[in-house]
Amino acid sequence: MLNINGKRLRQSLEIMAEIGATPGGGVQRLSLTDEDKAAREQIISWMREVELDVKVDEMGNIFGIRNGRNNDLSPVMTGSHCDTQPKGGRFDGILGVIGGLEVLRILHENNIETQRPVILAVWTNEEGFRFSPAMVSSGVWAGKLELEWAYRRTDLTGAKLGDELERIGYKGDMPAVSRPIYAHYELHIEQGPILEKENKTIGVPKGVLCLHWYDVYIEGEANQVGPTPMAGRHDALCAASEMILKVNELPSKMGGNMVATVGEIHNMPNSRNIIPDKVHFTVDIRSWDDVFALKAWENLRGSFINIADARGCQLKTEISWRVEHALFNQELARKILEKAGKRNYSSLYMVSGAGHDASYINQVAPTSMIFVPSIGGRSHVEVEDTKWEDCEAGANVLLDCIIDSSMEI
Ligand SMILES: [Zn+2]
Repeated sequence: MLNINGKRLRQSLEIMAEIGATPGGGVQRLSLTDEDKAAREQIISWMREVELDVKVDEMGNIFGIRNGRNNDLSPVMTGSHCDTQPKGGRFDGILGVIGGLEVLRILHENNIETQRPVILAVWTNEEGFRFSPAMVSSGVWAGKLELEWAYRRTDLTGAKLGDELERIGYKGDMPAVSRPIYAHYELHIEQGPILEKENKTIGVPKGVLCLHWYDVYIEGEANQVGPTPMAGRHDALCAASEMILKVNELPSKMGGNMVATVGEIHNMPNSRNIIPDKVHFTVDIRSWDDVFALKAWENLRGSFINIADARGCQLKTEISWRVEHALFNQELARKILEKAGKRNYSSLYMVSGAGHDASYINQVAPTSMIFVPSIGGRSHVEVEDTKWEDCEAGANVLLDCIIDSSMEI
């Protein structure tokens, strides 16, 4: 049985962790920044070392292609993303890229001839922090989001995704359109506490929760804080505060399997001696049950309207993004569990709360994911960590699955 080179996997991950390293031990490599470009260049040079044919599409997605015996057969694909959250971690995304690279290195150095081609993919702007929404480029590739719409996404400074792609030299000419894929596997850290709690090494998600993003805009009336009496104020921030607590209380009130979060807020003019007149905040709702999540939003909107009315504020809400829950391919999930078992790794069939490129890819190709434990269940933070032996275990399972699938005719 072939094994991936755990030492080399670790070394490559450590090299990647230096690109955009933060003083707190994490990584900040926002999408389409110079750090993202540097990461891409490192990955591509490693892809070339193992003689992959490197292609970049119109969304900046990178594909390293290794020929099979019969290139008319649909390929097996793996990969993830190399962008991070602000002050993010050293494993989210990049583990799936470097884990996949390590699999291709093993195929290369052992001269393994697969029947099908094998592709290592790096997806642009998975995190959705700099440019909302998340997973935008796998969404375009899967035909679920429009290319021109994606190009127009802007960051807080007004820079456009399309222009930034061009600036860092990654607006490729290959169409960002999916091709038939035989099987797709994404290796990723769990980003939650379950595997650690259950003392399991490999997690296989049954699928990914639905993901609904909203934007809420409140407009009140600004005024000097001293002379303006409390009665009759139209304080947009106070209205927002009440609304945010409604979001937080909703999952327990509705009693279903759901999480709801406000993670981003902009308060204007944000001065200690002016009553805030404009607030913009985001709402993120996730559930396995899409209809339940939609009901939750209707429920929230109703209470937002009442709160805005009571405080004499104007309210505008926008649906910015909705992705349906994704049930992954059960046959591939079974294969992952079987391969983990053969290596005597303990495993667990579970649900993922995080969104992944695999959610979009799953809509056009048989897809499954391999999770490894996150220490303390922490992710999207600098202390995000995973044991090296768990990274190695995940990559070994990925290796077994890719060899198996790519040999099938
Ligand atoms: Zn990720």
